[in-house]
Amino acid sequence: MQAADRWSTPRLAEFVATVTGAPDEASATRRAVDWATEALEAEVGVIVEGASALASVGFPRGEVPAGVLAMAIAGDHEVLDIAGVGPCRLAATRLDMEFAVDIVVARAGTAEFSREEIGLLRAAARSLTLTLRLFRALAAERSMSDNLQKRQALLERLSSIQRSITRRVPLDDVLNTITASARDLLDVEMATLRLIDQQSPGEMLLAAQDGLPADVARSIHRTNVGEGASGRAVADDRLIVIETDQVLDARPELAGENVQRAMAAPVRDGDRPTGTILVATTRPDRRFGPVEQEVLIAFAEHASLALTDAKRVEHIRQLAFHDELTGLPNRGLFMERLEQALIRSRRRRGHVAVLFLDLDRFKTINDSLGHTAGDQLLVTVGERLRHCLRDEDTASRLGGDEFAILAHCDRAGAIEIAARLLTAMEPSFLIDDREVSVAASIGISLDRGGHSDAGGMLRDADTAMYRAKFGAGNGFVVFERSMHAAALARIDLEASLRRALLCDEMHLDYQPIVRLADGEVLGLEALIRWHHPERGIMNPLDFIPLAEETGQIAPLGRWILKEACEQARRWQQSDARLRHLSISVNVSPRQLQDQRFVQDVADALSLSGLDPGDLVLEITEGAVMVDAESAIRVLHALRALGVSLAVDDFGTGHSSLALLRRLPVDVLKVDKMFVDNIVTDPVAAAFLETIVRMGEILSLTVVLEGIESAAQVALIAGCGGVLGQGYQLGRPMGSAAVDRLLAAGSDTVARPIAV
Ligand code: C2E
Ligand code: MG
Ligand code: MG
Repeated sequence: MQAADRWSTPRLAEFVATVTGAPDEASATRRAVDWATEALEAEVGVIVEGASALASVGFPRGEVPAGVLAMAIAGDHEVLDIAGVGPCRLAATRLDMEFAVDIVVARAGTAEFSREEIGLLRAAARSLTLTLRLFRALAAERSMSDNLQKRQALLERLSSIQRSITRRVPLDDVLNTITASARDLLDVEMATLRLIDQQSPGEMLLAAQDGLPADVARSIHRTNVGEGASGRAVADDRLIVIETDQVLDARPELAGENVQRAMAAPVRDGDRPTGTILVATTRPDRRFGPVEQEVLIAFAEHASLALTDAKRVEHIRQLAFHDELTGLPNRGLFMERLEQALIRSRRRRGHVAVLFLDLDRFKTINDSLGHTAGDQLLVTVGERLRHCLRDEDTASRLGGDEFAILAHCDRAGAIEIAARLLTAMEPSFLIDDREVSVAASIGISLDRGGHSDAGGMLRDADTAMYRAKFGAGNGFVVFERSMHAAALARIDLEASLRRALLCDEMHLDYQPIVRLADGEVLGLEALIRWHHPERGIMNPLDFIPLAEETGQIAPLGRWILKEACEQARRWQQSDARLRHLSISVNVSPRQLQDQRFVQDVADALSLSGLDPGDLVLEITEGAVMVDAESAIRVLHALRALGVSLAVDDFGTGHSSLALLRRLPVDVLKVDKMFVDNIVTDPVAAAFLETIVRMGEILSLTVVLEGIESAAQVALIAGCGGVLGQGYQLGRPMGSAAVDRLLAAGSDTVARPIAV
C-alpha cells in the first residue's frame, strides 16, 4: 500500500468512530470539525450552513467570519486573510445534504494542501453526511416510542460498516454485512444487493443477499436494468417502492415467497448508479414509510461508500504497482509475484523461470530520435511481450529498457518463450513514421528446486543477459553458476576502472607506423595500457568494452586524446625533422555517438597545439555500421576540423564497398588476417595485393597491420608506397623507448601519413 493510503486509513477509522459515537447532531458536527482541523494541521476549522456556522474551532474570540468564508468558497478563493490568524490556505468540501453545508479548514501560510489531505477531508465529509442524515431522519420521526433505541442500533450498525470499509475488509464481506444489517434493522424477510454487470451494462448481478433460499437466489441471480424495484431504482436513480402485483410481474420466480412489498434504493459509484439495495417483506402490514426509506438510503449510501473506496484502493494499487508508461507491473509487483510463485512451486514442485530482457542499442535510439519516440518504442515492446505470454505469466518493466518475465515453466519452456520473444521483436517498429528495428538480449534463470529466492533469480537472469549481450546481442543465454563468479569479477573491474584514471594507472604505449620501402617512421599509434594494481598490465580488449558499456569511455577517451596529442607535439618539437610526425588514436563506437566528441577533439588539438592534419582518428567499420547516417555526419564534422580519418581493422567488419566510398576517410588499415599467410599462400598474397590496389583506386593511404616477419616485409615492400605496422617493425612501447627510436632514425624526415 502507498504511504498516503497507509496514513489515511487509520485516521479515517478514528474519525468514523468519533463522529458516529456522538450523542446528537450538534456534537457530531463539533467533533467532526475538531478532528478535521487537527488532522490537516490547520489553525481554524468550521462547518458552515449557508452563512452561519454550525460548529467551529480555533477562531480568535470565537468570531467566525462565516459569511466571508462562504463567499470565499463560492468564489474558489484558496487564500484568505483571517482576522487574528493572518493569510491562510483554505480547504473546503461540501457535504451531500439538502442544504449547502461545507466543512472548511484554514491553515496559516500559503502552502497548498496535499492531494492526500484533500482526499482525507472529502472522505470525512462523506462520513459526516451519512451520520447527519440519520440524525435528521430520526429527528423527523420523534413520535416513534422506540426512536432512541432504534437510532442507537442503527448508528452502531452503520459505524461498524464504516469501520470495516476503512479497515479494508474485503468488499464482498462488507456488502454482505450491509445487506444483512438492512434486513435486520428494517425488520423484513429478505434483502438483496445487486450490481450492474460491467460486461453487460443492461443487466445486474446479485452481489449479496440475506433471507432468500439458495435455489431462489440462483434463479434471480441475473436481472434486467429497468425491471422490478431494483431495475427501476437503477434506471430512474431514485428510491422505488412496489406492491405485490408489480413484484410478481417482474419476478415470477418469487411467487412461492409470498412477497407483499419491496423497496429498492440506488447504490452509486461517484455520481453514477451502479446497483441497488432492496428489501422485501411477506407481511401485508409492513409499510415502508419515510423513516424506513431514509434507513434504506443510509444503507445504500454505505454500499456506495464501500464501492467507491474499493475502487480507490484498486486505483492506488494500480498506481503503486504498475509502470506508468507501459501499464505493465513494475519491479515491486514483479518481485511480489515471483516470491509467491516460488512459495507455490516449493509446495507443489512446479517450475519457475525468470527471463531478463534488455533492448540492444536503446540508448542510441533514445538519443537520436528523442525521448518521446523512445517512450513509444517501450510501450510497443511492452505490448509485444504481453502477447507472447500466457495469462498466468507476468511481463513487467523494471525500468529503462529492462523488462522481466515470470514464467511457470521448466528450462525447455523458458527457452521456447525466449525464442518467441526474440521473434516478436523482429518486425520493425513504426515510430513517428519511421521504421526502427531493435533487437534484445535475454538472460534466463531457473529455480533450483526450492533453493531459489526472488532477488537471486532476478540477479542471475541479469547476469545471463549480460552474457547474451556480449555474444553480439539478439540472443538468449541460460544462467550457469560459473557466470556468477565472472559477474562478480566484472563488478570489481568496473569499480577499479573508475579509480584507474584518478590513480594514474593508465598510460599509452606507442607503436611505429613505417614506410615499408625505406623503413622510415611516419607516425605512431597510441595504444592504451592499464597498470592494474593486482592484475598487472591489462590490454585494451580486456577493459575497453567494459568502459564503453558503463559510459566510462567518455572520460577515458578524452584523456587518451589529450595525452596522445600532447606527446606527439613534444616529439614534433624535439626535432625539426619530426614536425609532421603523425599520431593515430583509436576511437570507440560509443565515442562517435557522443555529442561532445567533436568538441573534445578540437579541445585536445588546441590545448596541445598539434596541427589537425597530424592527428589520425582510427575508426572501426562496426562503429560506422551502428548508425551510418549519424556516424557519417560526425566524420564530416571531424574532417572539417582538418583531422585525418582511418578505417581500422579493415576487412573484419561488415562494411560494404559502397559504404566505404561514402566515408570521408583518408587511411585504410588492413587487418592482420590479410597479412598473416602471404608468404606461404599465393592466393593470400594475391588477395592482399587486390586490397592494396583497391585502396589506391580510392586514393587512400594503405597501412598493413600485424607484420611479424622479415619475409612479409620483403614481399610487401614490392607493393609500392604502402605503410606497415607490426612486431617486426616495432612493438608497442613506452614514450621513452619512442624517444630513442626517433633519435636513432632522425636522419630521415617524417612526412604526414595521409597523402
Ligand atoms: P588496433 O587498433 O587494431 O591495434 C593494433 C593491435 O594489434 C594492438 O593491440 C597491437 O599491440 C597489436 N599488434 C600490433 N602489431 C602486431 C603484430 O605484429 N602481431 C600481433 N599479433 N599483434 C600486433 P592492443 O594494443 O592489444 O589493442 C587492441 C585493440 O584495442 C586495438 O586494435 C584497438 O582497437 C583497441 N585500442 C587500443 N588502444 C585503444 C585506445 O586508446 N582507445 C580505444 N578506443 N581503443 C583502443
Ligand atoms: Mg588501431
Ligand atoms: Mg587494427
